[in-house]
Amino acid sequence: MLNTTANFRRRLLRWYDAHHRHLPWRVVAADGAPDPYHVLVSELMLQQTQVATVVPYFHRFLEAFPTLADLAAADEQRVLKAWQGLGYYSRARNLLAAARRVMRDYGGKLPADRRQLLSLPGIGPYTAGGVSSIAYGRREAAVDANVARVLCRLDLIEGTWALQQLGLRAQEILPRGAAMARIGDFNSALMELGATVCKPRRPDCAACPVRRHCEACAAGAQERIPARRVKAPVPRVRRWTYCVASDRRWLIEQRPSRGRWAGLWQFATLDADAPHRLGVAVTAPAPLMQFTHALTHRRYHFQVLLCRAKRPRAALPAGRRWMTLAGLKDYPLPRPHARIAAMLAEITAPRAPAPTPPRSGC
Ligand code: SF4
Repeated sequence: MLNTTANFRRRLLRWYDAHHRHLPWRVVAADGAPDPYHVLVSELMLQQTQVATVVPYFHRFLEAFPTLADLAAADEQRVLKAWQGLGYYSRARNLLAAARRVMRDYGGKLPADRRQLLSLPGIGPYTAGGVSSIAYGRREAAVDANVARVLCRLDLIEGTWALQQLGLRAQEILPRGAAMARIGDFNSALMELGATVCKPRRPDCAACPVRRHCEACAAGAQERIPARRVKAPVPRVRRWTYCVASDRRWLIEQRPSRGRWAGLWQFATLDADAPHRLGVAVTAPAPLMQFTHALTHRRYHFQVLLCRAKRPRAALPAGRRWMTLAGLKDYPLPRPHARIAAMLAEITAPRAPAPTPPRSGC
């Protein structure tokens, strides 16, 4: 088992001080700790998403909703729009719901207590531990995929492991006594080590500050830990998307309030394997484009068709609208539909007039 000495903690923290990435959510406020709201936003954005992708979203999100109170007062569609392109939109809805609950139950101050954090929508053990330790300096572990990998290698855990087991281990190695002041940095350092040095493939053990404490490295087993999971085949789903034009507007519809891309807007789309009626009479559709949109557990194949409504601006039921392309900027769109909107903008943009040939003659 890993030797949990002060030496291990010291090495890790020294390395973190010298090498950590300067990320916007790590900026400390006057009290010497990062803003809890910033930590919460970043932790939710970072779930399933790379740091480099999150940074610009984080800046834009805080520009739109500078404080937790601003977020709590915001309309859900605005929040989804700010999240557009980041995917996993339930995170955005949960963040909004959590902000509203904090305003209602905690006077607008994000709680420091892990159990209270866990009671908020969308906050699981990792996020609760992260906020509690990083923003408030509480002695709480935070085990994400990076930390789990580091712990498995340090302790040479070759088989399957339980998150609870790693949680206890992570709790055990947290700083004690005078070093408690650096609990948040210690958790961040473990995450940083996993993200930048102890990577899933080819960990850079030569550059690792804690290699002397690492049993996997000593045994030459680091490449096979953790054991690779056999990936299930990713199902392929076919969609037909109809770009229905009417008087310089396009038919859009809101997705159901549950499921993937819930509550977002899209061009009229049918499930090719279980098609229902389009709901408006249209001219013969012509192919516009086709592409595949890959997610972790699904591959969507979009066949995009272009057509016109037979009756201009026909009345639509609730949840459907005629909208100009410029007007779409106020609507949150799933990434494939943002791509289709960009294509429509390109093909409908006014062309520059051809240059007039110079007159010849005398
Ligand atoms: Fe990971 Fe290698 Fe460091 Fe061990 S020595 S923690 S395997 S980078």
